[in-house]
Amino acid sequence: MHSHHSHSGDYIAHGVDPLEDVTNRAIEMKFHTYCMTEHMPRINPKYLYPEEHLDRADDTAAVEKLHSDFAKFLDHAQKIKSRENSAGTTFLIGVEIEGCDQEHIEYARKLLEEKRGIVQFSVGSIHHVDGIPIDFDQDAWNRALATSQNNLKKLLLSYFDLQYCMLMRLQPLVVGHFDLYKLYLPKDLKVDLETGYCVENGTSISNLSLIKQWKQVQDSVIRNLKYIESYGGAIEINTSALRKKLPEPYPGKDIGLLAKEYAGGRFVLSDDAHAVSQVGVCYDEALKYIVEDLKLDKMYYITEGPIDRAVKLESIPIEQFKSHAFWSTNFSKKAL
Ligand SMILES: [Zn+2]
Ligand SMILES: [Zn+2]
Repeated sequence: MHSHHSHSGDYIAHGVDPLEDVTNRAIEMKFHTYCMTEHMPRINPKYLYPEEHLDRADDTAAVEKLHSDFAKFLDHAQKIKSRENSAGTTFLIGVEIEGCDQEHIEYARKLLEEKRGIVQFSVGSIHHVDGIPIDFDQDAWNRALATSQNNLKKLLLSYFDLQYCMLMRLQPLVVGHFDLYKLYLPKDLKVDLETGYCVENGTSISNLSLIKQWKQVQDSVIRNLKYIESYGGAIEINTSALRKKLPEPYPGKDIGLLAKEYAGGRFVLSDDAHAVSQVGVCYDEALKYIVEDLKLDKMYYITEGPIDRAVKLESIPIEQFKSHAFWSTNFSKKAL
């Protein structure tokens, strides 16, 4: 079993358990490959989250702490990676991109270049639209919508445009939580399907695929997927959406099927764990989604070369994926 995306409480404010405990859990669960992918430091204090502001210190110090924590993470991750473990789990070191804006995308490029010998790949993620976080809380999501003139279609187009900029500049091997904007998308939201504006007498978006509904949005998704196909990237199936009680993982079936068609069908699995209890969580549901909804005949995972640690994607037939020891450990059934 694999996860291509994880965090810990040691090096980011919103993480819970120590990196040692998270990775020990992955060993205990007999993961084949487990990727440690802490968030890259943000450079502009405007993107600090409330919990990152330090007491009696200025924002410059808080940003500096993001950088020193990231350096500590890389040191620690290298120790875990080089250590033998009882299950033979391979640990890979990655970084989750913070594609907040153009400035951060450029900084990510520089950081990846500087850390090339240590950071083996990146998870390309977008967490902001118009500079506002879309996965932090409902209030922030609502502000992001308001900034998009209360137009849901515009919000989605802005999200996918920024994702496209990030993809073109960084070509991340793994593309993280492709449709993250759905986390706080209110189920009772009503929109004018013609214009995308949110209006009280509009159509309820529950049971609608916004991607299928709006051709312009679908075209943006396909543009991004075709680009991912062109450089050989993979789309992650991220179970954190299931853990947060959404009906589907990231991405949902609408985008998943488009990815199968336009992005070469390269999917990797991730738990995006921030705590011990989240390692491998909701993988049973994800397997069902992979087999029954997307009907994939293979899954991918990242492997590294024996000498230079260069990484590449390797495929595994779905039958082999389904018969991995992980599924019989019963760990996968444990929810939070
Ligand atoms: Zn993320
Ligand atoms: Zn993450």
